[in-house]
Amino acid sequence: MTNRTHLLGDSWLLQAKHLTNNLLNFIFPPVCANCKKPGQLLCAECLAAITWLEKPICAHCGRVVAKETSRCPACSRTPLYPVDPVRAAVIFAEPIPTIIHQLKYNGFFGLAAPLANLMVEAWSKWHMPVDLVVGVPLHPQREKKRGYNQSDLLAHHFCNQVGLNADKKALQRVRNTSPQVGLGASERVSNVANAFVADGLRVAGKHVLLVDDVCTTGSTLKAAAEALMAAGAKRVSGYCLARAL
Ligand SMILES: [Zn+2]
Ligand SMILES: [Zn+2]
Repeated sequence: MTNRTHLLGDSWLLQAKHLTNNLLNFIFPPVCANCKKPGQLLCAECLAAITWLEKPICAHCGRVVAKETSRCPACSRTPLYPVDPVRAAVIFAEPIPTIIHQLKYNGFFGLAAPLANLMVEAWSKWHMPVDLVVGVPLHPQREKKRGYNQSDLLAHHFCNQVGLNADKKALQRVRNTSPQVGLGASERVSNVANAFVADGLRVAGKHVLLVDDVCTTGSTLKAAAEALMAAGAKRVSGYCLARAL
């Protein structure tokens, strides 16, 4: 297929997608995933209520601190290496927990695009010279049940706008771990230990940016980064939509 027919094919596909979206929006007008107001998946009022992550933060783990520091008390006790640094777009405070719950558990996968826009906007503040972007994978069984992986969707929309490459095949979750929600810090570490395997052909020598929806203790990012480093990655950093305090 020549480039010309390729482009023509793409534009037809795009037009068909837009047409389908417009038709669906006409039949089922979107409502805000947080306040249920009709019009958009994330209304202007709810967007304006989101709190951006701002300095002063810990240089290593990205937690909000009273004064800039290279290690805060939390990550002095348990450093997140080999993932360094960890940054996020916004704070995990309402309306974000409700919105992320809708994205993950209630099928509102369309939220990934406006939420990735927040990550794009904050990237100018936290920019790192990365080679490759990898969404934290779900175990295939869980992804099949959910129908999508929210972190892959965030990585995909984020990359489309900042000109980076997302690689869905670089990292696999080989152990079906329990959800981290409700576990203590040490339980979170053992829950995700050896849960990931990375593909050396895709990551060797690269600075990888791990993308996830929420960073709480950082144990998932840390376990994923260990697998990437074991496969030869040069460096691993983390970028989440939201940082829990
Ligand atoms: Zn709203
Ligand atoms: Zn810290």
